Amino acid sequence: MKILVTGGAGFIGSAVIRLAVSRGHQVVNLDALTYAACLENVAAVAQDPGYAFEHADIRDRAALDRIFAGHRPDAVMHLAAESHVDRSIDGPGDFVETNITGTYNMLEAARSFWVSQGRPAGFRFHHISTDEVFGSLPDDPTVKFTETTPYDPRSPYSASKAASDHLVRAWHETYGLPVVLTNCSNNYGPYHFPEKLVPVIILNALAGKPLPIYGNGLNIRDWLYVEDHADALLLVLKQGRVGRSYNIGGENERSNIDLVKTLCTILDDLRPRVGGSYAQQITFVADRPGHDARYAIEPARIRDELGWRPSVTIEEGLRKTVQWYLANEDWWQPLLNRQGVGHRLGAGG
Ligand code: NAD
Repeated sequence: MKILVTGGAGFIGSAVIRLAVSRGHQVVNLDALTYAACLENVAAVAQDPGYAFEHADIRDRAALDRIFAGHRPDAVMHLAAESHVDRSIDGPGDFVETNITGTYNMLEAARSFWVSQGRPAGFRFHHISTDEVFGSLPDDPTVKFTETTPYDPRSPYSASKAASDHLVRAWHETYGLPVVLTNCSNNYGPYHFPEKLVPVIILNALAGKPLPIYGNGLNIRDWLYVEDHADALLLVLKQGRVGRSYNIGGENERSNIDLVKTLCTILDDLRPRVGGSYAQQITFVADRPGHDARYAIEPARIRDELGWRPSVTIEEGLRKTVQWYLANEDWWQPLLNRQGVGHRLGAGG
């Protein structure tokens, strides 16, 4: 299958591409190379004859039409997005333009190409979204997000993703475009850009800097190892029912403070700190405005319909992640100089 992956120089898109190429798929990576992109993420497959890169912006409809016509994909996996909640608080405009208008452009370019091909039933437009569209849950382990939970986004980021999800469903209902959607929980793992919680904690710990915890640290997330996520995404692309959405979670709920303490314990083991545990560097900082209390995925649909479950526990996944960062300083060191990295963003105002 030839898959057009948008956002393939980012964290999750690159994991999808590495896995897809290793399974023999042809892949076209369409990416604008924003501050969050890193082509080194796909260096392992860049020389593969089945891999092609297109430097393009999903806000540029003419470029999208040219890429569809030139590569004639069998499927689209749409991951390109502005993805950082804190940046969406400081500058929501880019999120509206890329996540909403960009998705609209992708849908129209895909629809135009699909119609030109005689509306093949096997074509897929797979939209990758987030559990943040569902809002915030109470601290009750029996209550989780299902695929029918009403949308209730709270941040500019999640509102822009919710809007894009609605557009994708509308293009299916109105024009018959064969779509599938997925909403996943917080990802972590290798190649995670060093502005997100897990890499910030690892790299600040190693640098002897404070480990910043927003608010009281009791916000709960459901952590999903990125390589498990990539596996689930390819499965949904292949076997997901058209027009349907699937929630993808890691079955690993943790409060932020517990997650950070686990990371400190792993670091204490793998790179012992002079003077005691890395946990001594934990510092509580001002909370994120509108910080959702809890996200948790009920994964029954993908488990029961498609037979998918995550392969690692959070302890196993975090250990692999710490090992990867310890072994790949050449990857992350240059990224620390990118715009905004290492600074508190989205504090409000
Ligand atoms: P990322 O920020 O690491 O990567 C995004 C990629 O998209 C980058 O390579 C960037 O250059 C590209 N991009 C941004 N704007 C573009 C544009 N206008 N045109 C073309 N390319 C553009 O993001 P990620 O963490 O890999 O997330 C991928 C997708 O998964 C996003 O849609 C995000 O909303 C969703 N998601 C992420 C998480 C998570 O935990 N990271 C959780 C749920 C959903």
